[in-house]
Parts: sequence; C-alpha cells; structure tokens
Amino acid sequence: MVRGSTSRRGYGTKHQRIRASWSPKVAAGLVNCARCGQPIEPGRPWDLGHTDDRAGWTGPEHRVCNRRVGGRNGAAVTNAARGKTVRTSRNW
Ligand SMILES: [Zn+2]
Repeated sequence: MVRGSTSRRGYGTKHQRIRASWSPKVAAGLVNCARCGQPIEPGRPWDLGHTDDRAGWTGPEHRVCNRRVGGRNGAAVTNAARGKTVRTSRNW
C-alpha cells in the first residue's frame, strides 16, 4: 500500500531542481542577488530565495542576504525605498 511518504518530497525536489538550474549562471557570475541587487561573485555562497509569502522563489541571493531577512523581513528593501520617496517636484 502507498503510505504517502514519497509525495511529501515534492517541495524539496523542486527547490533542488530550480537551484540546480541557476547554478551554472551563478558560477559564471551572471546573476544579481534578488535581495540587494548586487552581483553574486562566482564561488560565493548563495541560497535560493523565497518570496515573502513562500509561494515561489525569487532567485539566487547572497547567503548573507538570505539569512538577514530571516529575522526581520525586508528591512533592506524598506530602507532603500525610503531614500527615493521624497521627490515630488511638479513645476508644470
Ligand atoms: Zn545580496
């Protein structure tokens, strides 16, 4: 009888497969971090990042960036956005 043990592996397998598909591009230095936007240098540790609702994947991220969001979600994004908001000159 099937006891459903194998069906629970889908998430991990998919994650591995997506990560593997990114791997050659990251190794070639072609990918920017999905969190901070900086290039991921070849050989640098990286993780496959999740969207905030965990419904999908954002793409490769520096491992430090990925770990950083674990505690406080999206603080870097908030800070980056704050610097840009004060530009409302409408002289026309
Ligand atoms: Zn980063």
